[in-house]
Amino acid sequence: MPIRRRFYRERESAPDFERRRKRVCRFCEEKIKTINYLDERFLKRFVNERGKIVPRRISGNCALHQRMLTTAIKRARHIAIMPFTSEIYR
Ligand SMILES: [Zn+2]
Repeated sequence: MPIRRRFYRERESAPDFERRRKRVCRFCEEKIKTINYLDERFLKRFVNERGKIVPRRISGNCALHQRMLTTAIKRARHIAIMPFTSEIYR
């Protein structure tokens, strides 16, 4: 019985893992070379409600573009376009 159960679990997890692996970076797809830190609307897509930058494992960005994005967001924060934290705080 335990062997069967293990087999089932492996089969269940395999396609999910593949699906996650196949996800391509949005910036790479659109061949974006620079990220405009003045574009608030665009940057907001990569930030959660609290103002935190969404991690790479969730957004699916590649290392290079995630790095560019974080610099852009941090610049935007510095010039008060983006929030460091949201106003609503529980
Ligand atoms: Zn990329």
